Amino acid sequence: MDTTSFIKKTIDGVVQVEPALTPPPKSATTTSFIKKNKVGSGKTRAKKRDIPEGLWTKCQACEAMIFDKELDENLQVCPKCAHHFPIASRERIHALVETCTFEEMDAEMVSVDVLKFASYKSKLDRDKKATMLKDAVVTGIGKIGAHQVALGVMDFRFMGGSMGAVVGEKLTRLIERGTEGHWPVIIISTSGGARMQEGVFSLMQMAKTSAALAYHAQQRLPYISYLTNNSYGGVMASYAALGDLNVAEPGAMIGFAGPRVIKDTTHADLPPGFQTAEFLLEHGLIDTIIPRKEAKEQLIRLLDYFAAGKPKL
Ligand SMILES: [Zn+2]
Repeated sequence: MDTTSFIKKTIDGVVQVEPALTPPPKSATTTSFIKKNKVGSGKTRAKKRDIPEGLWTKCQACEAMIFDKELDENLQVCPKCAHHFPIASRERIHALVETCTFEEMDAEMVSVDVLKFASYKSKLDRDKKATMLKDAVVTGIGKIGAHQVALGVMDFRFMGGSMGAVVGEKLTRLIERGTEGHWPVIIISTSGGARMQEGVFSLMQMAKTSAALAYHAQQRLPYISYLTNNSYGGVMASYAALGDLNVAEPGAMIGFAGPRVIKDTTHADLPPGFQTAEFLLEHGLIDTIIPRKEAKEQLIRLLDYFAAGKPKL
């Protein structure tokens, strides 16, 4: 039965065509209903409907709703409770270095799937697309205040900030450039650890970066390791813990293995605040805690301090 029909109405002899927006296909013999997206009954769906996506972010710490623009302007720090959200490497560099002074190094270096590890290549492609980065660290030479520095900034969004051959090589080259130029090195870490998809090649980076830092230290040049949430595994077991100063962002989780693994292994209850920057400051692993918004000012202060004792070349 043909149930769809359009009627031409005639008013005072003038033919009025019904304003049909989309005429049905000629072959259609029955009325078809367009499937509408189901309106959810669950809490999450209701929330999504109330709050337009991409405008507000809920703070995990104080549950305040923060306008995204405000969060961007505040360097991804909650304006209500100062909780530090993750921040992209380029955003961080932009906030730290003087305008137009950052000269990126090895920007085109990419990881190779040497071990043919299952789905590694597709994950690399996915993260390259999502982050517009080539790997989990951005390195380069730039100015912070009046100080020329070799700066490396990791990005957790790229494969969990894991250290593969590219991260290790880029950082090694950065440190070596710092040694040649007699510049301080600053590395801002955030990492889940070594990149398991690269097996032993990833583990080799621990020795390589540490050796480069040893040569840098021989020249009596300062190295500041700035640890951010979270810094774990092979990164923490190598360059991230080797700073002349190891500083951290508030609330950052820092360690080798995560608390769950330690708890399962030792069968002991862990003290409150275990592995947080504040706990580690109290126990001597961290030298100071620097909030993100004070990072530039504080780093300049530390670099001034190191420069004052710099041997005359
Ligand atoms: Zn908050």
